[in-house]
Amino acid sequence: MDEPTRVREIYDRLTQTRDEQHWQPTSLSHFEGQPFKALLAGMLSAQTREENTTAAINNLLALADTPEGIAQLSDEQIRKAISPVMYFEGKVRYVRDIAEKVAANGGEVPRTIEGLMEYKGVGWKVAVLTLAVGYGIYDNITVDVHVARIGIRLGLVKPTTKQPPKVNDELKQVLPREMWPHWNALMVMFGRAICLPTYPQCPRCPLNDICPKVGVVRRG
Ligand code: SF4
Repeated sequence: MDEPTRVREIYDRLTQTRDEQHWQPTSLSHFEGQPFKALLAGMLSAQTREENTTAAINNLLALADTPEGIAQLSDEQIRKAISPVMYFEGKVRYVRDIAEKVAANGGEVPRTIEGLMEYKGVGWKVAVLTLAVGYGIYDNITVDVHVARIGIRLGLVKPTTKQPPKVNDELKQVLPREMWPHWNALMVMFGRAICLPTYPQCPRCPLNDICPKVGVVRRG
């Protein structure tokens, strides 16, 4: 099997498994077409479990759901609302900075990675995620821990590649563009269900026969 055929096979098999097993998409997909909320949720999600991010963003949006409204909240209100996420003390000023800047920009969230990264607490990963979820701009692949780990195991990314922008570059060289919008969600669902961080479930994995299992030492 040549590499483009293998890549196509990986994608098709995982898409089919997703549909058969009714894998649930990530909670950030609730903010499709809503860049301000996608940006806030993405920033809050750093180092945090998804259920805690969901709780925090829901708490915050229950208090106010516009940039102006959030900018007018007190630090204490924001702190209490986002307390479920990691490093919430530091993220209070990120919430305020984002809300104030977006409000000052007439409610418009930047449409470029560079513009988004000027906001406090927003790195490359959150910027790409915001463009994808908020605006449907898929010029890059959102790289999280699942995308990075599984990319290496599948032999699509070099084992030494760690930085998300570099993982993105390598994946873009092997994945056809039409797969880019779907890759992150597919890897997140697959990484939670089968290709687990510590004990990947290789014997029951639909990719078992076409995966080189790079770096896998223990299997479930
Ligand atoms: S065969 Fe194992 S390492 Fe490869 S994708 Fe499947 S679970 Fe992950």
